[in-house]
Amino acid sequence: MEVYLDNNATTKVDEKVTKAMEPFFSKIYGNPNSLHKFGSQTHSAINKAINQIYAGINANDSDDIIVTANATEANNSVLKSVWINDILNGDKTNIVISEVEHPSISVPASFLKAQGVDIKYAKVDENGELDYDELVKLIDDNTALVSIMWANNETGKIFPVAKIGDYCKSKNILFHTDATQAIGKVVVDVSTFHCDFLSFSAHKFHGPKGVGGLYIKKGVKFTPLLHGGEQMNSLRSGTIDVASIVGMGEAMELGTSTNAIRYENTVVKELRDKLENALLDIDDTILIGGKQNRTPNTSLISFKGVEGEGMIWDLNKQGVAASTGSACASESLEANPVMNAFGDDSELAHTGIRFSLSRFNDEAQINYAIKVVKDAVARLREISSSYAKN
Ligand code: PMP
Repeated sequence: MEVYLDNNATTKVDEKVTKAMEPFFSKIYGNPNSLHKFGSQTHSAINKAINQIYAGINANDSDDIIVTANATEANNSVLKSVWINDILNGDKTNIVISEVEHPSISVPASFLKAQGVDIKYAKVDENGELDYDELVKLIDDNTALVSIMWANNETGKIFPVAKIGDYCKSKNILFHTDATQAIGKVVVDVSTFHCDFLSFSAHKFHGPKGVGGLYIKKGVKFTPLLHGGEQMNSLRSGTIDVASIVGMGEAMELGTSTNAIRYENTVVKELRDKLENALLDIDDTILIGGKQNRTPNTSLISFKGVEGEGMIWDLNKQGVAASTGSACASESLEANPVMNAFGDDSELAHTGIRFSLSRFNDEAQINYAIKVVKDAVARLREISSSYAKN
């Protein structure tokens, strides 16, 4: 049996999405900016998809949503736009992010730091929860932007973005949230709280890879990363990838409906809890970050004495796909920075295994995964020099 439990890294494209995309390769292929029939066909497909995306996050018609190559581009665009507008050409000097942001925020932030921007890092506590009071202390009159992720890719921890957004609004400071791990798992509704920018990536919610988006609130100044043919209201140039956008629209609609969210919060959560509870029955096993404030699909577990990489290889041989740390950056064997942020327990950082489920997992798969993981832990502890046998 094959069991894919690495959905925070990427998800299977829903076949309904593939079907919606299919005509836009060889049958309907006009450039949406062309004036002939071929162009108008793709133009109206894009309009439909854009409407699905607006509806998915409940954006107002007057707000902007630009389609990007992925969340990495969306996140880079925000930081670099704010840098140009509010720091280089304005009087602000600092940007506040959390210490557990995805590299698509933390690395461009380091790049800006090298250009002289003061980057401030908000801490998480030993459970991976963002310390709101500490965050607020970092924000001052010189803050150009606060950028805090909605849900963490490793732990699934959900951060208090509504509270942070409203605080930023009260201080007239721009607020961005990277909602890449939130869309399709929890309700993301930009009409219910304040945010100036919000990023997402279609492949995290059963859409295609290589397409994502950035919501920009009406009236917020934005300087594009890509200049050129003035597509997307001149906010993001380049010929529009019609099939991908159609796929993202369809995936957004499928993943954000009330029924989809209800399914995530009942069926997916029940399967996650079943897996988690069974694995926590194994001796010397810890749920990193605890059970509160998490996306319904994620579980990050440390099996004492079992080195993460070895565990992944062992599970892989039995057909179970999970991940150590961030699969997006797992070429490095360094301890996962998110787990390091929890404290200096380096064993914890090297033994964490992330299981992330999706609506395509079922009970038979979870039963199989439980058995495979239990066997793997027993086997690897037998040969582990750091695990003291009783
Ligand atoms: N933000 C978060 C929270 C993520 O988990 C990821 C992907 N792992 C990204 C941004 C980047 O997404 P992409 O690789 O699609 O650009």
